[in-house]
Amino acid sequence: MTKVFLKKQIQNRVLLGHPWIFGNEVGEIKGDVVPGDIVDVHTHQGSFLGRGYINPQSQILVRLLTRDKSEEINPEFFYRRLLKCWEYRQKLGYVENCRLVFGEADDLPALVIDKFNDYFVLQTLALGMEKWKPAIVEALNRIFSPKGIYERNDVPVRELEGMEQQKGFLSAPFDTNVIINENGLKFHVDIVNGQKTGYFLDQQDNRREIRQIVKDANVLEAFCYTGTFSCHAGYYGAKSVLGLDISEHAVETARRNAALNNLQDVCQFQAVNAFDQLKQYTREDRKFDVVILDPPAFTKSRENIRKAVTGYKEINLRGMKLLNQGGFLVTASCTNLVSPELFLETIDAAAKDAKKRLRQVTFQTQAKDHPILRNIENTTYLKFLIVEIA
Ligand code: SAH
Repeated sequence: MTKVFLKKQIQNRVLLGHPWIFGNEVGEIKGDVVPGDIVDVHTHQGSFLGRGYINPQSQILVRLLTRDKSEEINPEFFYRRLLKCWEYRQKLGYVENCRLVFGEADDLPALVIDKFNDYFVLQTLALGMEKWKPAIVEALNRIFSPKGIYERNDVPVRELEGMEQQKGFLSAPFDTNVIINENGLKFHVDIVNGQKTGYFLDQQDNRREIRQIVKDANVLEAFCYTGTFSCHAGYYGAKSVLGLDISEHAVETARRNAALNNLQDVCQFQAVNAFDQLKQYTREDRKFDVVILDPPAFTKSRENIRKAVTGYKEINLRGMKLLNQGGFLVTASCTNLVSPELFLETIDAAAKDAKKRLRQVTFQTQAKDHPILRNIENTTYLKFLIVEIA
């Protein structure tokens, strides 16, 4: 087995549990470097640190899979890991739909698997994980006997690993428009053409948080995607709900979701640019009782954090201005480079400019099936805040 020896100065980080080893942290490599292959990682003095997969084409040279020297990486390894992931989700009560595997947080770097009842959607985002795709599919078959498995590897990040983007069946073909149950509602999930894996499971608990505040309210949801928050609002007793999204496909699905839950009279959707529409409503002095904002990630690179913050400030400022006194702003951010602290500061800055006094109702993060590793930064990626305009 090829051996990778780290430089002296970086070992603390890796020793403390971080699974990534960057190219510039490596002092010496003994043996062949075959992209995607399993290698052993040692300290500069030669003691064993862990075992993982290597890819010289990636900035992250090695991602560790295990720190147990006796643990072999083979199909059985992936079966054991997936079983462990499943036991954890079951323990926490995420049985029907869940993020079954959340990459690094489940000691399976660069692997994502979402479970939609009997259907599974998979992403292998690094070459070393891609190579084990057959073993992963086999493990899923063994544990779940699924009705279908699909890969949504149509993600640009794969190109950093020298891989192509692709999507397709990893099981016999099946009807990829599935319906899931969530919080007593039903939702269409378009596995092939939906965003990311088709559905945002990370907000599944947060959607319940609007239950009390939407009763009899006029609700506006911007960046509504398939209308999941909007439908929840309707279901929890809102007087009217207006959902906005720039994607025609999302809005169409949102309308189908409303109909599926018998909420078509309460929930209306429009395919528009939310930035423009929020501006327009401000000019018209429209008012709502609840405004929900869940925009896409505004940046994936550090250079653009300021720009992302400006974006958050703008939409939240507009959202606050559209609210009646005593109304509620429900606001989220999934940009992992914007920390919870920075997000709250941005909301405070928006409130100052809008001359509003905010009273916090709740501040939370992603659902528990997306675990947070305390020793890895940016894994608390979802911020979800409800404030009252006091
Ligand atoms: N709240 C949703 C997820 C929202 S994802 C849920 O829980 O399922 C962000 C959404 O913002 C995407 O559907 C995307 O199409 C939409 N979007 C991106 N830019 C937009 C814009 N300028 N105006 C309106 N919607 C936009």
